[in-house]
Amino acid sequence: MVSHDWSESTTSDCANVDILIVGAGPAGLMAACCAAQYTRSIRIIDLKESRTRTGHGDGFQSRTLEILDSFGLAQDILKQSTPDVEGSYWTSKKGCGHIQRVGIEEAGNGHNSRFPKALLNQGATEQILLDYLCGKHQIFVERSTLAQTLHIRDVADAAFPVSVGILHVTDNDNQRSKGRATVNARYLVACDGAHSWTREQLNVPTEGDPSGSTWGVFDIVPISDFPDIRRSCAIHSEGVGSIMTIPRENRMVRFYTHLHDGVEKTKVDDSSGVPHELVDRAARTMKPYTLTCKHCDWWSLYRVGRRLTTKYRPHDRVFLVGDAAHSHSPLGGQGMNVSMQDSYNLVWKLGAVLSGLFDNAIFDTYEEERRPVAERLMRLDAKLVEAYENGSTRSDKGVAETREDYSGFMSGIELIYSPNKLVSHGGSSSSASARHVKLGKRIDSVPVTTHCDGTRTQLARYLSMNGSWRLFVFSGDLRQQERMDLLTRFAEAFMKCPSLAKLNQTSFGNSKSSIIESILIHSSPTTAFNLLDLPDMFHPFDEELGWDYWKVFTDDKEHTTDVSHAYETYGIDEAGPCCLILCRPDQHVAWIGDSEDVAGLDEHFSRFVCK
Ligand SMILES: Cc1cc2nc3c(=O)[nH]c(=O)nc-3n(C[C@H](O)[C@H](O)[C@H](O)COP(=O)(O)OP(=O)(O)OC[C@H]3O[C@@H](n4cnc5c(N)ncnc54)[C@H](O)[C@@H]3O)c2cc1C
Repeated sequence: MVSHDWSESTTSDCANVDILIVGAGPAGLMAACCAAQYTRSIRIIDLKESRTRTGHGDGFQSRTLEILDSFGLAQDILKQSTPDVEGSYWTSKKGCGHIQRVGIEEAGNGHNSRFPKALLNQGATEQILLDYLCGKHQIFVERSTLAQTLHIRDVADAAFPVSVGILHVTDNDNQRSKGRATVNARYLVACDGAHSWTREQLNVPTEGDPSGSTWGVFDIVPISDFPDIRRSCAIHSEGVGSIMTIPRENRMVRFYTHLHDGVEKTKVDDSSGVPHELVDRAARTMKPYTLTCKHCDWWSLYRVGRRLTTKYRPHDRVFLVGDAAHSHSPLGGQGMNVSMQDSYNLVWKLGAVLSGLFDNAIFDTYEEERRPVAERLMRLDAKLVEAYENGSTRSDKGVAETREDYSGFMSGIELIYSPNKLVSHGGSSSSASARHVKLGKRIDSVPVTTHCDGTRTQLARYLSMNGSWRLFVFSGDLRQQERMDLLTRFAEAFMKCPSLAKLNQTSFGNSKSSIIESILIHSSPTTAFNLLDLPDMFHPFDEELGWDYWKVFTDDKEHTTDVSHAYETYGIDEAGPCCLILCRPDQHVAWIGDSEDVAGLDEHFSRFVCK
């Protein structure tokens, strides 16, 4: 196999790097995790001297857990987190002053995801990503390091056109310097938060309204007789106020409280460490139930505002990611999730272009795909804030209905990228169909059986983020000779196509996996034929490791008791044409066709593979 390694440098203090990531919050750390699959020529810097210790984001949507699972990290999150199973809604009748429960609903089962919603503080999440980066890839965040100057050379042949002047600081407040240096990068990934330094350097305006009402937020160990203290709650007490609560790890609960009449920070900060003013306001809203606390982990006051960048790629070599591109209130529990998802969308494209194999025109798809997500997020946020502030009785739609309307979006699972350079329009002359698979949507995982040893497993286990595109081949029952012939014909046509064969035999820098991995899902018993009798593309050979046995699976209904089956789930007719589904490295479906349409598959890649 040919291995593309474009890196000229591999040390973290190198002045010339492929990718410089500014900011080591959730977006920056996720960007580094993705980039590490392609290159070791990465630097990631952050002004802060340590990761987030307390507070900030705490909700994981199902899609974010799927993404973390593609690095093998979801279980680490789930082990520490609190499940978010039920949400309840409370309101008081005017004049009565006492709240009553008006409904309990499931928090959402993740919309066909293997993962539920889960709650864990942002700092713990950052630690899991840091451990992965340092343990698996020896990538370390350079702390107390401020990006201070930005200069981009517009010389077409400059290898490292982005120059960032960095300052090593000893003290974040007065920025006393321990030394300066310059980092030259091929690409700058700006994950520098809501007040993005990069956005400011490049004079990128934002849209939206940054000013809004004030809310208080605090993480406490509550002492309360409120019956739903371990459920997520939206509570509105007419004439008193609105609060939202979220159960957390270590007996903690996160409270958000709307400060409709404003409050001075100095009044809250009474040096006890507990924001009594905020806790008292929440307690008044929760009457007749009581609320006090002895331990507060973190509290803050913030203004609800919405801002969306006008450009996600303000320069050919610079990308705005996460809060740097969009910011809004925390009420939907989306910011950390969407920020990590931005990185997941962008960085595999960067890796593929850096390899010299893919055209940089694919970068347009970053904004094409992620801006609509942020726009929808702004609409959701405006509706949620209004619903919370006005209470479910007065707003057009209450919190419960708004959450219900947006539940698929909030889970991250229902997201569909529109046709673009990387996602086919569909509608080809192909006779195969996967009725329940949508172009542009991430593919559902299904239980399958590994042909080599009969293990029942989730298909997603084999879809790790390593830069590979996955071509799923649904051959049907290979005990039928004509279906085996169909598969053999497909494999021959694929390998005879020079561009596809090259992608099948080429890997990226850090990975042994090929750019196109073929995965066969047949519907015969595992004993029906010998795996090595299948065409070579389904058991690639490595001099050191021998054959790869984990590219062939069966969806053999007769021998399992599972309710969910691949052919049924995807809506593929076993006896019909042999169906092909192509997924991008981020698991979104790019192209669907049949095994006779190798030319169509080739045409899809020809739209972005360098000649
Ligand atoms: C109270 C609160 C509750 C929230 N709750 C949720 C929730 O439940 N779910 C959810 O998904 N999200 C939630 N969020 C939002 C979430 O915290 C953010 O969306 C998330 O942190 C954004 O990640 P990011 O990496 O884009 O930016 P950040 O986390 O802001 O990271 C940016 C980093 O860039 C660094 N930086 C900035 N400028 C420079 C520079 N010039 N040089 C070097 N470094 C620099 C900063 O030090 C910082 O570490 C909440 C936020 C708050 C405040």
